[in-house]
Amino acid sequence: MEYGLYIHLPYCRSICPYCDFVKAPLHHAEPERLLSALRREWELARAADGEAWSRPRTVYVGGGTPTALEPPTLARFLTWIGEAWDLSRVREFTVEANPEGLDPQKLSILFEGGVDRLSLGIQSLEAPALRALGRIHTAESALHAVTLARRAGFRNLSVDLMYGVPGETRDGLRAGLQQLIALGIPHISAYPLQLEEGTPLHSKAARGALAVPGETEVIGRYEELLGILTGAGYHHYEVSNFALPRFRSRHNEGYWTRRPYLGMGPGAHSFDGRARWRNEESIPRYFERVESAELPREDRRELSGAEASEEAIFLGLRRSRGLRVSRHLAAFPAAEVAAWRLWAQEGDAVAASPPGRLRPTDQGLFLAQDLASELFARTDRREPQART
Ligand code: SF4
Repeated sequence: MEYGLYIHLPYCRSICPYCDFVKAPLHHAEPERLLSALRREWELARAADGEAWSRPRTVYVGGGTPTALEPPTLARFLTWIGEAWDLSRVREFTVEANPEGLDPQKLSILFEGGVDRLSLGIQSLEAPALRALGRIHTAESALHAVTLARRAGFRNLSVDLMYGVPGETRDGLRAGLQQLIALGIPHISAYPLQLEEGTPLHSKAARGALAVPGETEVIGRYEELLGILTGAGYHHYEVSNFALPRFRSRHNEGYWTRRPYLGMGPGAHSFDGRARWRNEESIPRYFERVESAELPREDRRELSGAEASEEAIFLGLRRSRGLRVSRHLAAFPAAEVAAWRLWAQEGDAVAASPPGRLRPTDQGLFLAQDLASELFARTDRREPQART
């Protein structure tokens, strides 16, 4: 089966106040227990699913901060991946890293371990914004991490940025982007700050102790970012993703095109082409279940044909390639689709051509969620919940 493998390593040196991922501070880390649990989970998955997941096309190690592991643990982890899976068909092997604690030794372990793409969590190159986000690295250490990664041999680098962050300025955002462009970073993911309920940053904003940029300002930042990156030759190929030619994220494209993926580790999500499920999110309960020989899977749900097609539309509207009308929209009432398309074209959210495709414009990508909601509302469909 053509699929992507995702492994979640949940430990971080420090916990960012906006983060709602499955993670734990490094001083709670049980790296040996985690490695044993992952081995056990893989045995259980093979016993349940046979050889379905034996030959991935892409591998993505995320977190948490995978590079928070100590060098010997990181090396053992990568050796295990090489032994447990047949990696002969892998076309992209990404590991997420944060600037803090990233050193030549860890980078060399990653490179020698077969990793060919590094995704760096830089978020901002402005000190006040980094402080507001509770990041423990500086702009200088972020840029230094890029230099170290290049020295270690990494050419395929991606940088994660956030915009609409308290403390960010228009000039600072612009200058940061220019620095990344000058460095030739081939892939940039840029996300607006989301105040997720239950996070410290959300509570701070709710009690008025944090001034968050308003919607108009955030849209302005997005437009600024879009103009700068596309002007520098980056292709805006998904809502939040920009790439120089040949540097799109193959693994993430798998999510957006509904290719199967196996998620391992606490909180990881999976999709086998028919059903979606997720792993236990509580790290202690994940350990307990795996150690008692139980697959830590939850909420398994088979998708109906209609749900699968709605999901494909929802995800397709997030990509600049868009949708093939005959394939994705044929089952919808033609009159409603035509009216929706006209509405979207008039709002400059989808392009009028080419004839057989429906391609979101740059503005349409930013409004992808609204575009899909409007289509589903007009055609009386349920909005899908695919995790991307
Ligand atoms: S480093 Fe990443 S995963 Fe860890 S707390 Fe911060 S945002 Fe979350």
